[in-house]
Amino acid sequence: MAQCILKIALDTPLNAVFDYRWEGEDGALPQVGQLALVPFARREVVGLIVGLAEHSDVPVEKLKDALAVRGQLSPLTAEWLALAGFAADYYQRPLGEVALPGIPKNLRVLTTVALDRAIKKLGKLEDKHDHTPLNMPALNAEQQAAADHIGGALGYQPALLYGVTGSGKTEVYLQACAQVLAREPEGQILILVPEINLTPQLEGNIRARFPGVMLATLHSSLSEGERMLHWLAAHQGRARIVLGTRLAVLASLPRLKLIVIDEEHDPSYKQQEGLRYSARDLAVWRAWQLKIPIVLGSATPSLESWHHAQGGRYRKLELRERAVKSAVLPKVKLIDMERDKPRDGLTSQLVAALKLRMERGEQSLLFLNRRGYAPVICCESCGWISDCKRCTSFMVLHKPEHRLRCHHCSLEMRIPRHCPTCGNIDLQPVGRGTQRVEEGLQALFPEARILRIDADSTRKKGSAQEAFDTVHRGEVDILVGTQMVAKGHDFKKLTLVGIMNPDTALFSQDYRASERLFAQLMQVAGRAGRAAQVEGGSPAEVLIQTRYTQHPLYSAVVNHDYDHFASALLAERKQAALPPYLFQALLRAEAPELATAIEFLTLARDCRQWEGVTLNDPIPMTMTRVHNVDRAQLLVESASRPVLQAFLKEWMQALRDTKTRVKWSLEVDPLDI
Ligand code: ADP
Ligand code: ZN
Ligand code: ZN
Repeated sequence: MAQCILKIALDTPLNAVFDYRWEGEDGALPQVGQLALVPFARREVVGLIVGLAEHSDVPVEKLKDALAVRGQLSPLTAEWLALAGFAADYYQRPLGEVALPGIPKNLRVLTTVALDRAIKKLGKLEDKHDHTPLNMPALNAEQQAAADHIGGALGYQPALLYGVTGSGKTEVYLQACAQVLAREPEGQILILVPEINLTPQLEGNIRARFPGVMLATLHSSLSEGERMLHWLAAHQGRARIVLGTRLAVLASLPRLKLIVIDEEHDPSYKQQEGLRYSARDLAVWRAWQLKIPIVLGSATPSLESWHHAQGGRYRKLELRERAVKSAVLPKVKLIDMERDKPRDGLTSQLVAALKLRMERGEQSLLFLNRRGYAPVICCESCGWISDCKRCTSFMVLHKPEHRLRCHHCSLEMRIPRHCPTCGNIDLQPVGRGTQRVEEGLQALFPEARILRIDADSTRKKGSAQEAFDTVHRGEVDILVGTQMVAKGHDFKKLTLVGIMNPDTALFSQDYRASERLFAQLMQVAGRAGRAAQVEGGSPAEVLIQTRYTQHPLYSAVVNHDYDHFASALLAERKQAALPPYLFQALLRAEAPELATAIEFLTLARDCRQWEGVTLNDPIPMTMTRVHNVDRAQLLVESASRPVLQAFLKEWMQALRDTKTRVKWSLEVDPLDI
């Protein structure tokens, strides 16, 4: 009989690994990295075996027996456990809370019989179709150099692929992948994209290039059954390429040889709830741990990555030109809204440019990062406005749905017929969202085929893909959209991008706002002019409507000048002692009353002092109240990452031991403060 103590991590907020007794019938002991079924708090749950021991510090009569081990799954590797361990440590969370959600739910909840049946289905993922690999197009010299560098790299070699929009970064990734797949007969590759809507485009490209190579995808819109199959394909090493959004960074990949992160600057690589991790940063750690190459691609790298490239920690690979011959970067122009007063949000110059594209049969894109019809409605006679009863925000008018909606707590109501305060029946929308722009355009161009793409228009599963396909087929004249359309898409027929009103972001108190706005404008501008220009035609155009034509951020966009802009921002950050020259963590607290949250944070601030760590005063969050809960925050800063980490570890222990009804959480390397 085989006996031992199993150390098991469970998905609980308690910062502990639990001991269980194991008594097996046959001689074999369970292995570290296997899943085990155990009794916990009057339930049976699946946990992860992270250690085996002969003795336990827990008195023997208090120990419970582990019930079963999921023997049909090969154990997670030591490297994977180390990755989960690192993430748990770095982000100050219990190991179980990091490791277990990283494993598909079905592997934890299915019965043994159901699990066995599911595993048999794995072969289904194999790409068994009729096709020959599509030829790789000949790369230009810069692309070739980049692909060879990435594909030929051995050991930990982080590279920043800095290439203008349309420079063919995807092609570089694909050809580097081809080299790695050829060299490593069993090797696996992880490719991360920021946005789920970008997976079908890349998935199609990969399948066409590598027929017979099993591809697994991991993103949030898979069913639990699909997620388990794809995860298993990666875990068993059968899927050679895994393509996914940020959560895929924690996939089990026992033979990982290359990591690709497309659009590495994108904020959606940051998880904004629960374990608030940066998939990009974890991926870099993973590459370092496994001693494998990693490539971070972007036309507008994050200042963190740019800083590393400037300092030599990342190798900079540059693509200066668009890949398609004679597809040149669009001409960016500013339209002064003080002179050319907009009607229905559109200046006469933008209307003229749209008209010209209609006549030529080309596509236009209007970019406005605000969904709904109008951000607020108001009563002009008494001043009532549609604020949310539960949040420090407004109820947004959604005209097609005849509703007011709060985008923060999801409160919904019918549009009131008259003012709730004075009875006035003439309530007015204030400001403009994508729905209102769409309506205005349709009145202006009755014959135009107009399509709006935003989170509202693409709620149904598959509808986003359908919408993007419609654009690619050329069945749309004017596309109206939010940041969903700004990223990554290779729209071939688009020759005009109109940016409606980006000014509000110029004066945000968030120090990252200008970095973000710049990246967003460059990205959306980069959707224009991606096909070869017609003989004698004029270049594609980007028109930005603004009241601040002299602002340096816009000059940088006009000149497509990321380099100088990034250097200027970095110099500012250095002078003001901000990231990447400083390391931060944010403690947040939530309570029904603001004072309670502030009180808790004040206590937290005063409970520890640490050399080299600054604890700022607690303040209410900018959006203080959400869903009837008040929120406050405390910013912690240090010039040294290890010092900050050491402090956080002790501090978190102290806070966990504090009895409080306040809900609190910590975010390391916060993006929004
Ligand atoms: P990026 O991701 O850098 O914005 P893409 O990878 O979408 O750019 O490439 C832009 C376009 O250029 C795509 O249509 C792609 O097929 C094409 N392309 C890329 N490399 C080449 C090449 N070497 N020759 C011809 N066309 C290319
Ligand atoms: Zn009123
Ligand atoms: Zn609300």
